Amino acid sequence: MSASPIAIMWFRNDLRLADNPALMAACRWAGQNGGRVLPVFIYDDVIDGQLGGATRWWLRHSLQSLDHSLGGQKLHLFRGTAQDVLTSVQAEYQVTALFWNRCYDRPSITRDTAIKTHAHQTGLMCESFNGQLLFEPWDVKTGSGGSFKVFSPFWRACLKMPPPAAPQAAPDHIPLATVTPSQAVSLAELDLAPKPFDWAGGLAERFTPGEAGARAQLHDFIDERLIDYAALRDYPDQRVTSELSPHLRFGEISPRHIWHATAHHADAHPAQAQTTAKFQSELGWREFAHHVLFHAKDLATIPLQPAFARFPWVQDADALKRWQTGQTGFPIVDAGMRELWHTGYMHNRVRMIVGSVLVKHLLGDWRDGLAWFDATLVDACPANNAFSWQWIGGCGADAAPYFRIFNPVLQGEKFDPKGVYVRQWVPELRNLPDTLIHKPWEAPRLVLIGAGAASYPDPVIGLRQGRDRAMAAWREMKKTANFEEGDMT
Ligand SMILES: Cc1cc2nc3c(=O)[nH]c(=O)nc-3n(C[C@H](O)[C@H](O)[C@H](O)COP(=O)(O)OP(=O)(O)OC[C@H]3O[C@@H](n4cnc5c(N)ncnc54)[C@H](O)[C@@H]3O)c2cc1C
Repeated sequence: MSASPIAIMWFRNDLRLADNPALMAACRWAGQNGGRVLPVFIYDDVIDGQLGGATRWWLRHSLQSLDHSLGGQKLHLFRGTAQDVLTSVQAEYQVTALFWNRCYDRPSITRDTAIKTHAHQTGLMCESFNGQLLFEPWDVKTGSGGSFKVFSPFWRACLKMPPPAAPQAAPDHIPLATVTPSQAVSLAELDLAPKPFDWAGGLAERFTPGEAGARAQLHDFIDERLIDYAALRDYPDQRVTSELSPHLRFGEISPRHIWHATAHHADAHPAQAQTTAKFQSELGWREFAHHVLFHAKDLATIPLQPAFARFPWVQDADALKRWQTGQTGFPIVDAGMRELWHTGYMHNRVRMIVGSVLVKHLLGDWRDGLAWFDATLVDACPANNAFSWQWIGGCGADAAPYFRIFNPVLQGEKFDPKGVYVRQWVPELRNLPDTLIHKPWEAPRLVLIGAGAASYPDPVIGLRQGRDRAMAAWREMKKTANFEEGDMT
């Protein structure tokens, strides 16, 4: 038995020391009660259900980094049901308090509510905090007190609220408990290595998981790229966006920190106020996705617009495979899907194009796209991924209407006009002229052979044929479902 009372700091999607309100509270509690803080991470079914191969890779490195920041061998890892793990630690030590930062998905809320109830019944002090969002989903309300279904009024309402609190520095001193719970496991025992084979080399080349990596990424973005963000954020070859999404996914940096750092920058550089507001509004989309997640029944499976439950999606395993592996014959799509596989990341504009081709030209179910992104994205998260796929599918909150169909050739020509992005990820097209780079099927056979592009596949479906089929499916759904736009659960 440890002599001092212990507060458990339960880390989840908040793998950082700075601006971590639950950790601050645990330290404060320890100071006031002559106690110690026991940092834990529990790999339970809820977390397991939210991870794919790429996010497992990220989590492994992020846990390693957090443990290092705590001094090494100080973050206690567990596998099992969260309640059982917490009960076992309580049985072993004099645990009198429990702190965590809130999650907003249903399985986490159900788990956390039960744990809080149990804690209160057993006399354990238990407190939760907002460490993940700028605004709590229940604080942002429509005039009639409901939740928002459209982004612009949501974001306007957010901007009228008191601004997010200034971020707090990491605690000067964390009075760590010097005990090792008997059921703790090693990082290797969490078994987070990519499976069934290790494809993570490209992920490590592109990203540095952990709090220090997140800060470096933010400062690099503010110093070098924020200035061009509003103008160039849609151009995948420019790489002007922050690439903070996986760091935000695991809470290695707080949105408050990003908000205030960019706001300070805009104060010091008034000419960058507009680009900064644009960037902050993208953080707003993240807020909106969490708002919608919190209020939805099951964002990952149930279309927010009920009529889409009857949409005639087509199960075409071959087309899905070609889409997943970057072999659709549409260069901008294949570039995106190959970038995703190689790096665990894809530019937002390209995510929109590949998503549109899947759910429209190929009539693929948005949930199949969601599942592949969940498996392969380093930033895959229950809010943004499900929200965005519903948006792409035309069935989500403030979604692009299904009948607006992106043409991948025109999108490629507009946002990758010189084919730089396509040439990087689809090297077999490298030698095609700019005029053909987004539509190689129009090249004469001899030109294809001469450019070394003859092995590149023909389009998986004709653009006109895919478009017409999608529109027919949409009309069919409207007929049978008595569809009204904006009709949402
Ligand atoms: C089909 C599809 C699936 C997506 N899946 C995910 C996902 O699993 N995880 C994820 O974080 N984002 C997802 N997005 C949103 C967006 O593509 C990424 O957040 C963005 O590309 C990340 O790059 P960045 O950090 O450079 O973004 P920046 O442009 O620098 O934006 C800053 C931050 O704002 C947030 N953000 C930006 N755009 C959006 C958006 N449209 N919706 C919600 N939040 C946004 C992200 O947290 C991002 O890190 C998806 C978009 C689409 C179209």
